[in-house]
Amino acid sequence: MALIVQKYGGTSVGSPDRIKNVAKRVARWKAMGHDVVVVPSAMSGETNRLIALAKEIMPTPDARELDVIAATGEQVTIGLLAMAIIQEGCKAKSYTGPQVRVLTDSTHTKARILSIDDEKIRKDLAEGNVVVVAGFQGADENGNITTLGRGGSDTSAVALAAALKADECQIYTDVDGVYTTDPRIVAEARKLDTITFEEMLEMASLGSKVLQIRSVEFAGKYKVKLRVLSSFTDEGEGTLITVEEDKNMEQPVISGIAFNRDEAKLTVLGVPDRPGIAYQILGPIADANVDVDMIIQNVGHDGTTDFSFTVNRSDFAKAQGVLESVKSHIGAREIVGDNKICKVSAVGVGMRSHPGVASQMFRALAEEGINMQMISTSEIKISVVVDEKYLELAVRVLHKTFGLDQA
Ligand code: ASP
Ligand code: MG
Repeated sequence: MALIVQKYGGTSVGSPDRIKNVAKRVARWKAMGHDVVVVPSAMSGETNRLIALAKEIMPTPDARELDVIAATGEQVTIGLLAMAIIQEGCKAKSYTGPQVRVLTDSTHTKARILSIDDEKIRKDLAEGNVVVVAGFQGADENGNITTLGRGGSDTSAVALAAALKADECQIYTDVDGVYTTDPRIVAEARKLDTITFEEMLEMASLGSKVLQIRSVEFAGKYKVKLRVLSSFTDEGEGTLITVEEDKNMEQPVISGIAFNRDEAKLTVLGVPDRPGIAYQILGPIADANVDVDMIIQNVGHDGTTDFSFTVNRSDFAKAQGVLESVKSHIGAREIVGDNKICKVSAVGVGMRSHPGVASQMFRALAEEGINMQMISTSEIKISVVVDEKYLELAVRVLHKTFGLDQA
């Protein structure tokens, strides 16, 4: 007998019929003798609807009150799901986040979980109940309702699994696992049986949006066994996200090709090559709350240098404005930008022990005539910035180059 936490996303609980299906699945796990804690999201589209409603009253909503409103979506699904589970002949009880004391800090709309009181849940489980806990929400020490940021019920589920020392945290969603790349771009993309936390973090932060990034960090930190599965099929084991790479297995060098379309590049041309310049450029950018990703500074010649960095495309105009305003102060010649770029990355813990991955990647792109505008690497990732018109070609070529097409 095991203790399983199951999280169901918005599409999985998007209609009464789908909720009934979830209840049937939960009842099957219960019938196998397991203890089950279920964490649903709001019905698909519901959180968006609630936020839009709030904005009709207050265009920039008061954060505390917005949380009061947004948290109601999950309160509906826990009640509906508990009833559907009771209809399946099981005992079930639902709780909101504040009721089970999911204690968070007070950062409304993106609160962090501090602790979870597992006592009540354990007692209910011991009495034979399926316990249904609302995702996405908690309360701060003064009892104010908080939410964890969009997609936050993944983090709720992982945090509950950590607090309860569950045997497994299963994330049910509308895809049947984590793929080597987006199957909409590469038809040959394959589902991975396992992926490490580190790889998953890189894939997630690069835009493979299967799990909320914070939930993956959380699972890695607390060593929660995390599995991504489809709620629409009963087949398959999904993808297991492991804490350690499997030393017994022959690891592929590259596990996946990730990409991000929403990138933009800015370059400050002809800045004096002296200490403090990078800070003078990026300080004001940070003050404007713009996240910077890749940074490149060329080797100086004739006493000046060029300085480039990438930002999220939605911050492009803002960043450009900031640079224009500091341009004369830092003595730059010109500011240029390009918001038609994208980032493509090869991710794999195997590259630690396999030199030559970068050259293999660069040769494959060169053979297709794809120009790399920027390159950055980490221990388990190589990213390149290319013109967005090459995105699909680059992803396809790399997927093939690293043998990810083959089973
Ligand atoms: N319902 C919330 C959202 O739409 C939380 C979640 O789905 O994980 O962001
Ligand atoms: Mg969601």
